[in-house]
Amino acid sequence: MNKIAEIFTSLDYGPAPESPDLALAWLAAHENRFGHFIDGKWTKPGKTFASENPATGKKLADVTDGTAEDVDAAVKAARAAFPKWSALSGYERGKYLYAIARLIQKHSRLFAVLETMDNGKPIRESRDVDIPLVARHFYHHAGWAQHRDREFPDHVPYGVCGQIIPWNFPLLMLAWKIAPALAAGNTVVLKPAEFTSLTALLFAEICEKAHLPRGVVNIVTGEGDTGAAITGHPDIDKIAFTGSTEVGKIIRKATAGTGKGLSLELGGKSPYIVFDDADIDSAIEGLVDAIWFNQGQVCCAGSRLLVQESIEDRFLEKLKKRMSTLRVGDPLDKAVDIGALVAPVQVARVTDLVKKGVAEGGQLYEPDIDIPGGGCFLKPTLISHVSPANTVASEEIFGPVLVEMSFRTPEEAVALANNTRYGLAATIWTENVNLALDIAPKLKAGVVWINSTNNFDAAVGFGGYKESGFGREGGKEGMASYLKPKWEKELKPFKATAAATASSRPRNPLEDSTPPGVDQTAKMYIGGKQARPDSGYSRPVHGPSGALVGEVGDGNRKDIRNAVEAARAALGWATTSAHNRAQILYFLAENLEYRAEEFAARIKAQTGEDGAAEVAASVERLFAFAGWADKYDGAVHNPPQRMVATAMVEALGAMAILAPPSRPLLGSIALVAPALAMGNTVVLVPSEKSPLSMTDFYQVLETSDVPAGVLNIVTGESRVLAKTLAEHDGIDAIWFAGDAETSKMVEAASAGNVKQTWTSRGLYYDLADKLKFEGDYFLRRATQVKNVWIPYGA
Ligand code: NDP
Repeated sequence: MNKIAEIFTSLDYGPAPESPDLALAWLAAHENRFGHFIDGKWTKPGKTFASENPATGKKLADVTDGTAEDVDAAVKAARAAFPKWSALSGYERGKYLYAIARLIQKHSRLFAVLETMDNGKPIRESRDVDIPLVARHFYHHAGWAQHRDREFPDHVPYGVCGQIIPWNFPLLMLAWKIAPALAAGNTVVLKPAEFTSLTALLFAEICEKAHLPRGVVNIVTGEGDTGAAITGHPDIDKIAFTGSTEVGKIIRKATAGTGKGLSLELGGKSPYIVFDDADIDSAIEGLVDAIWFNQGQVCCAGSRLLVQESIEDRFLEKLKKRMSTLRVGDPLDKAVDIGALVAPVQVARVTDLVKKGVAEGGQLYEPDIDIPGGGCFLKPTLISHVSPANTVASEEIFGPVLVEMSFRTPEEAVALANNTRYGLAATIWTENVNLALDIAPKLKAGVVWINSTNNFDAAVGFGGYKESGFGREGGKEGMASYLKPKWEKELKPFKATAAATASSRPRNPLEDSTPPGVDQTAKMYIGGKQARPDSGYSRPVHGPSGALVGEVGDGNRKDIRNAVEAARAALGWATTSAHNRAQILYFLAENLEYRAEEFAARIKAQTGEDGAAEVAASVERLFAFAGWADKYDGAVHNPPQRMVATAMVEALGAMAILAPPSRPLLGSIALVAPALAMGNTVVLVPSEKSPLSMTDFYQVLETSDVPAGVLNIVTGESRVLAKTLAEHDGIDAIWFAGDAETSKMVEAASAGNVKQTWTSRGLYYDLADKLKFEGDYFLRRATQVKNVWIPYGA
């Protein structure tokens, strides 16, 4: 080999350190001790804990462990600041956000260095990814502040938002929370993670410099207990949380029944799918970014590699070669790929999981590269040929560990990809655009990247399906999650009707039996067929004067199980064309209208009210949502990268709907129609007191081409069936219209698989109100947005 060629192969990197001096000077200016930032002022440090540099183990500063009193003081400051802040014009609020964005850009290097020292991530990432995205977020939301009223008419901010964030993207997660909250007109109390509070404290100084009115942003540092004090505080109107699924479930339970808004960004185990026609070298570069970016401590990390079997050996060989060129080292070195994990406890957790994965049959590969001694460093790791049953195939590792398995067909790839309780992100590599766009909608994930990975932008919503949480950050959906309809605060309590008393009264099964002759007890409707109740018992239905007007089956856990199975078997409804769904809803409306008189008489018999008007309103509502089926759709975003991101509006899956006691027909139709229009399948529990209108509805369903299992109807005691449905893992979302106590129970029980919920909390929602309920109010709650990123350019 001649000399130049030799130099190319033997050339090593020299050190390229970024200076920590200015960040250290900033810490020193605070005497390396911090209190909280409350009401525009710094509190005296209280009981503190140390914030350490995970690359060196050296202490950077002492940070105050926030008490419940600290949280209370911050909430009071935010509450006091809210009226003035929310009354500012959007333009005025936007200018503050713009000023913050400019200041972040101005001090971006200081932020990047401090972030790297506090968290351990390579400076290359904090400098080129985290901080620019933070600034972008504030710029983007400066615009939303100004356009809020035009784009979200008749909406108001929640009030005081409690925001809790994790340690993996400390400043970026802060920006994702604070920027939309302020743009919408809320004030905030934010708690950074205990390991990484420092950039949040520097951000507080930026707020001072931007002359943000005091109390609009409050930063309270602390541990889990401080977070719990925020979620439990009675004067907080909305909680936004990013962190583990485990803590997300605790927060879901803690906020149940409080009426607080809630968005949860939780964990993931995202698939990275490589088809045999992929550009392998690009796919490997993408993979490096997917799993070794931020040491793999990324909620959406492409941590499950799925490779098509025909290229598996070649792909793994190339991957191993690439892994051996990765540089692990001082995060402040600009030529380092992998820095330090956040803390020793994280190193121990990851190491244990790797051992487990290998013990359960995975093949371990670690490249023969140097890593610094001391500090929280780990080598990039591959565990290949794992079985789906291996712990590491399903548990989130949250470290630099890639897990690999192979597949043969696209169908198998989709099945493996979706074989997880999570649903945050997914990546697809193929040169076949038809294949990519066929697979993307089939993946149960909130974000799908095609021939690329880890793309983020303020204009594009980010968030999960399934146990990865609900709500979106970024984009219009992200803004929407910090606003609520103006009329919500005027809702009045629902007056208790005879419904509640009827259900709690012990019944003599023979007391109300129908007159001699053929039994006409209405059956359940499950999987397109009428079904007898499993219990063999029936429930009487009384008219307003107390006279018996009919009987229905008394549904139980097994009826629900059957109905959920039928609803899941019919999930293909989501993939029938929106036009087709619209046609079926129109047909339902038409067939209901044919029988208007009969339905009106039945309503009158059950409630004594004007049945004709209710039937007419129900027909109109079916028409309205038939009309929406092919119109409530997504957007194409144009992020700064050379990509488009298509925001697809997708169904939630199998929904449980428990209709209100009043309006036996419209009460059910008003909730079921938007759910069906958007492609959900439904298990409906109609009004407990007056269920006969919906049992009559079977016949309309049967004559309207509604596929079997799309709408299943189980009659019975609403509270009991609500519990079974809320706890059922086969149900993806639950809506309950009824009393406050059951609403609370439904929300708490929904934590099991992190269902999306809507409950009426004992308030009266006048579902006949077309202006409020014939449009996006329920459509938005019946759908979730998936963003599919597609690169362009050769
Ligand atoms: P945790 O859920 O443990 O912590 C997240 C935040 O919640 C921290 O500020 C934490 O405080 C706080 N917290 C802990 N317990 C409670 C409680 N009972 N009530 C209220 N707040 C509480 O997650 P980690 O910080 O360990 O972060 C890692 C996890 O976060 C991973 O599982 C990852 O998947 C997920 N994550 C998800 C993201 C997403 O966008 N979906 C993004 C980033 C991370 P403290 O840490 O101070 O104790």
